[in-house]
Amino acid sequence: MKVLITGAGISGSALAFWLAKLGHTVTVIERFPSLRATGLQLDLRGHGIEVMKRMGLESAYRAKAIAEQGMQVVDSSGRRRAWFPVNNTGKGTQSFSTEWELLRGDMCTTLYERASREGAEYVFGTTVEKVMQEGELVHVWFKNGRTADFDLVVGADGVGSRMRKMILGSETKDGFVRLPGLYVAYFTCKLPMQEGEQNIATMYTATNKRGIMTRRNNPREVQVYIGGTVHTGRLADAKPGDVEEEKEALAELFQGAGWRCDEIVRGMRDCKDFYCERMGMVKLEHWSNGRIALTGDAAWCPTANTGMGTSSSMVGAYILAGEIATHCSPSDGGEGLEAALKGYEDRFKPFMEQVQKGVEEGSWDNMPSSKFGLGVMNILLGIVSFFRIDIVKYMLKEKVYDWELPAYKELPECKDIANM
Ligand SMILES: Cc1cc2nc3c(=O)[nH]c(=O)nc-3n(C[C@H](O)[C@H](O)[C@H](O)COP(=O)(O)OP(=O)(O)OC[C@H]3O[C@@H](n4cnc5c(N)ncnc54)[C@H](O)[C@@H]3O)c2cc1C
Repeated sequence: MKVLITGAGISGSALAFWLAKLGHTVTVIERFPSLRATGLQLDLRGHGIEVMKRMGLESAYRAKAIAEQGMQVVDSSGRRRAWFPVNNTGKGTQSFSTEWELLRGDMCTTLYERASREGAEYVFGTTVEKVMQEGELVHVWFKNGRTADFDLVVGADGVGSRMRKMILGSETKDGFVRLPGLYVAYFTCKLPMQEGEQNIATMYTATNKRGIMTRRNNPREVQVYIGGTVHTGRLADAKPGDVEEEKEALAELFQGAGWRCDEIVRGMRDCKDFYCERMGMVKLEHWSNGRIALTGDAAWCPTANTGMGTSSSMVGAYILAGEIATHCSPSDGGEGLEAALKGYEDRFKPFMEQVQKGVEEGSWDNMPSSKFGLGVMNILLGIVSFFRIDIVKYMLKEKVYDWELPAYKELPECKDIANM
């Protein structure tokens, strides 16, 4: 088949890798002028780890993995109230820090290199302007003026997916569901490692539903996740993408919030990689329409709250490729595509339904917000961590019950390769 994938992120390149390996002619287009190898740490969990291994990426990812020793919870004075070490035994569920913490750039670049090696072609700096399905073909008009026909088009263009809007049409409501009032901003700032400091993540919850997390992948800087729930005020009024206004609104929100917030807010003012997300998830009845399908955040963004965004992307791409391998051969022009896209939904929807379950209800609006409430929460977290109770199982969505990762005999085995 001639396949077009829009978006050279995690899901786009993971799918490109499998389909090119199966012998299909794959083109990936990316809106940015080059690979967008930016972002903070991503992690892999559960079935995402198994798929990564089946892709032959274990040694390459192991070489890039960040050795985060665990996550501590601190109070406003900086005192440690709970400690959740990484689980690197290879058994059971991951902790908050996983064995597979990688910078998004490293994950994305490795997948891009592997997909290119299998023959996928990448075109940067363009997008799809229009699509039209006719018979067994999808006609595509690109922004760079070119046109081409494909047997299959897959939108892997992230949470704000343009392809999703195209296949839903102007009459159907978009599947993006905003988590009311929840904002998270991501950036890196200079904060040198102090003597004796371990490589750990630190979580601090302030009063009035504000939170901040830091983690580091080098001794000079920390990665910062800062946000909270606000329904009115400067942050709620800020225009998405107006970085200066978003920074000032967050600085106002976190003024005097305790712990190292003032220092981190100063670092935020100078940072160059700030991005503020209005959090939400994507919920769709179907992931395809005719010969156009969606994958990754474009289809089912589960939000960072689940800890499953990247793992779901890797597993979803594997299932879509596996169903295509089962129902279509590279030479039949996609005769079995309808069955493949149906199989993709039938197999993977139960997985995503579990991952997304409770995300809307479990918003930060239910978090304690008073000093007293936070004090109680920190005591409880201390008890949970002392007795090593697996709280991650309840807070994140790594454990997907009664769902088995299919072993597609039609998908080729991938040798584990350390380097390119
Ligand atoms: C720059 C960036 C930084 C991120 N940083 C973090 C982070 O720090 N922490 C975290 O948890 N998650 C982060 N994410 C999101 C995370 O990568 C995803 O939630 C997850 O890995 C699923 O990946 P995806 O491939 O479906 O989507 P994404 O990783 O979002 O990839 C989508 C790709 O599609 C491209 N694209 C968008 N629109 C078009 C279009 N119209 N035509 C062609 N291409 C298009 C984008 O430029 C991007 O390369 C980031 C995403 C991006 C794009």
